[in-house]
Amino acid sequence: AKFSVGLTGGIGSGKTTVADMFAKLGASVIDTDAIAHQLSAAGGIAITPIIAEFGADFIDASGAMDRARMRALVFSDSDARHRLESILHPLIRTETARAAEQAEGPYLIFVVPLLIESGNWKRRVERILAVDCDEQVQVQRVMQRNAMSESQVRAIMATQASRQQRLQAADDVIVNDGDPAALLPQVAQLHTRYLSFARLL
Ligand code: ATP
Repeated sequence: AKFSVGLTGGIGSGKTTVADMFAKLGASVIDTDAIAHQLSAAGGIAITPIIAEFGADFIDASGAMDRARMRALVFSDSDARHRLESILHPLIRTETARAAEQAEGPYLIFVVPLLIESGNWKRRVERILAVDCDEQVQVQRVMQRNAMSESQVRAIMATQASRQQRLQAADDVIVNDGDPAALLPQVAQLHTRYLSFARLL
């Protein structure tokens, strides 16, 4: 298997922004959120099991999972959340493994929002890269992007690992607190390091 990095960070920390930079430099980026999205989009392979488990009420007119409705359910009902996860997680594993096999880059970057929270993912990657930013900055970004209130964003953050836990688990950290121009030098330096790890593997 290729050398692989797990890229994680809290909501709004800048994972996608950073992952796009690695992709431009030539890394093979596999975004588990995007894969999860495809699985539950119209025609996705999770739709049939979702209907079987939750009923057709959770599918919208286009044939995709009704995200707002499902989010509302699983946010308040942890049993439902576990049932949804037991549908999606095995499918995500299969699809990410397939994407990894087809990847042509010198190494892999798996973007996994809840990597620290998942023993499985921690075992699947050689290195953990956390995108770090101040919690207040995180809140501001997500409020702006998703038109959410501060308490809504804080409620999501409360379900994720803390900044402290993430920094403790990380091998590498990218700081994304301010100027977006500060990102590329950090990404480029890590890319060079990951290329040499990949050559040693
Ligand atoms: P999520 O977990 O919610 O998908 P994410 O960690 O992938 O988020 P991004 O989507 O990369 O984070 O960034 C969140 C938002 O903040 C985006 O709208 C992005 O354009 C913006 N953003 C990211 N980094 C910066 C920065 N350094 N300065 C200003 N805005 C930024």
